[in-house]
Amino acid sequence: MPRPISARIHLEAISHNLSRARAHSPGSKVWAVVKANAYGHGIRHVYPALDNADGFALLDLDEAALLRELGWKGPILLLEGVFEPSDIAFCEAHDIWHTIHNEAQLRWMESRHTSHLHKVFLKLNGGMNRLGFKPELYAAAWERLQALPHVGGITPMMHFSDADGSRFGQSGIAYQMEVFAKVAGPLGVKAGTLSNSAAILRHGAELAPLSEWVRAGIMLYGGSPDYPEHAPEHWDLQPGMTLSSQLIAIQDIQTGDTVGYGSTFVAERPMRIGVVACGYADGYPRHAPTGTPILVDGVRTRTVGRVSMDMLTVDLSGIPQAMPGSTVTLWGDFHAPDGEVRRLPIDDVALPCGTVSYELMCALARRVPVSVD
Ligand SMILES: *Cc1c(COP(=O)(O)O)cnc(C)c1O
Repeated sequence: MPRPISARIHLEAISHNLSRARAHSPGSKVWAVVKANAYGHGIRHVYPALDNADGFALLDLDEAALLRELGWKGPILLLEGVFEPSDIAFCEAHDIWHTIHNEAQLRWMESRHTSHLHKVFLKLNGGMNRLGFKPELYAAAWERLQALPHVGGITPMMHFSDADGSRFGQSGIAYQMEVFAKVAGPLGVKAGTLSNSAAILRHGAELAPLSEWVRAGIMLYGGSPDYPEHAPEHWDLQPGMTLSSQLIAIQDIQTGDTVGYGSTFVAERPMRIGVVACGYADGYPRHAPTGTPILVDGVRTRTVGRVSMDMLTVDLSGIPQAMPGSTVTLWGDFHAPDGEVRRLPIDDVALPCGTVSYELMCALARRVPVSVD
């Protein structure tokens, strides 16, 4: 028997989450963001759940090629654009749309001669200061692209830094919406692509008139972009992945006994400890502190002590029926024998670990077998 750990990808949940993105973005087309191998879920696995998206957005050229291999004929967008001039030929060969966010990419396009019509997304640096042209340089970049006979369409693109919260006491999108309006107005364009999951869910109605496209990422996989303010349930999102394993050993320990490396957990009373076949080499965060939530046979309990490479340890107080072979849910859904579903949202695990659901999903290790339901 293989090690008992496995991940299940829930296709119905992912298509449901896509429908939530649509419901919050009336009149907009939806990019399903599948970068980082679909946030760790596997592009191959999630493709059937997302093939009624309007397009796929990602970063890696080989992931774009994989989507074509899987039969996707619709739009694909490279969110960071091309990385070297020869990538432009790749975009032509596979009909891939690409972002232009810097001067180098603009020059590569200017020196390309082709009969292929490129669809490009010109990125505005709306204040996040990662990618894009500053507002005062944007119109010039736009005009240079427009002058190229092999550019068949330009869509403005921006990314919000604070859509999941506020910015200096204001709405998290107000400042950047103003920047966008100032830049887009004189160019005679009304709409582009601005929203990530947080903007879609929190500001969908307000942004709809500016959104030809929205870019849904984390919400497709069931993570809440503004947790803990809102749990996935608040947004009617369902987990796209369940990571589960089993207890492989049980230790009865006495008051004063310790558990795991560094003896960071000291028992204050006699207790039962369960040993789970899951460690940081599976992608579970090593910095999960004592107290991180976890389900054993569907009962919510806590981790104790340090996470090691292949194992972690849990408190079995109050779960007398737990034994080696009991199912452990690291995150996602546990289906009880009575048909009830006990859910541990991935955000509940990420928070005590000082991270976000994104990082946990993306960290799922290659050695964990993945199946689809
Ligand atoms: C990853 C990414 C998104 C998706 O963000 P979520 O918060 O996961 O919805 C949107 N736009 C760009 C440019 C991205 O890189």
